[in-house]
Amino acid sequence: MKVKEKNDLLIVAVAALLTLLLGFGIQFGLHLRDVHREQQRGIALMDRLQTSAEAAGETEHGTISALTAGRERAYENKLKHLVELEKLDMLMLVNPYNPIPEGYTPVLRMVDESHAVDERCADALLQMINDCREAGMHPYICSAYRTQEYQQGLFDNKVLRVILSGVDAEEAPAVAARSVAVPGTSEHQLGLAVDIIDEFYTNLDQGQEGTDTQQWLMENCWRYGFILRYPNGTTEKTGIIYEPWHYRYVGEFAEEIHKSGLVFEDYIAQRRGR
Ligand SMILES: [Zn+2]
Repeated sequence: MKVKEKNDLLIVAVAALLTLLLGFGIQFGLHLRDVHREQQRGIALMDRLQTSAEAAGETEHGTISALTAGRERAYENKLKHLVELEKLDMLMLVNPYNPIPEGYTPVLRMVDESHAVDERCADALLQMINDCREAGMHPYICSAYRTQEYQQGLFDNKVLRVILSGVDAEEAPAVAARSVAVPGTSEHQLGLAVDIIDEFYTNLDQGQEGTDTQQWLMENCWRYGFILRYPNGTTEKTGIIYEPWHYRYVGEFAEEIHKSGLVFEDYIAQRRGR
């Protein structure tokens, strides 16, 4: 082979190699561009996905918030309604003409070793007794919640004593009922009534009103949610004799009742007429 031919061959070979390399380079460059494009597309896609995910999240969050708020409102309303009902429960009228609803069972709490009351008035009662003592008086709870059976026992006993006092046996129950409620019509069965007497004057008679304890209680009981239930001169309406020791819990209505000067029966009638 001649030198020139050799050179030509070399040139061709180099050219071919260069072409190959160039081609490869271009290929590689194109590949890189594609990869870059793919990357860009991927990033854009990720961005889009994230944005929509965030939007969805917000919507969901918003929806959940709205649902929660709605449920909370409904719950609050229900609670308010129950609180209203519970307050009105405190106004349950029980007297010889309005017996306790059958099956009425208060949730009780002991206020001393031997007496229980509806738990809703226990704190107020204890506070009243405590404050009365701190004012120098001597209050003593002699009766609180009574079961139907216990009330029956009290009533039967009273009927017997009335008969022994000379009253005709047929009239005796009616006479007894003026001072001891017929079973099923005693506020004591509600758990919202207490008989409080003076430790140094324990008779359940009109003399009770002369004690410092009763004077203090009559003046202040409404501050604790209680009213003197059978004031003097109201027997015709209450069906019960004057009892300056029987206090009934009525909760927040006590102030209004106290200020109105109305006997409970009249206060209830006025409310119903509203
Ligand atoms: Zn009583």
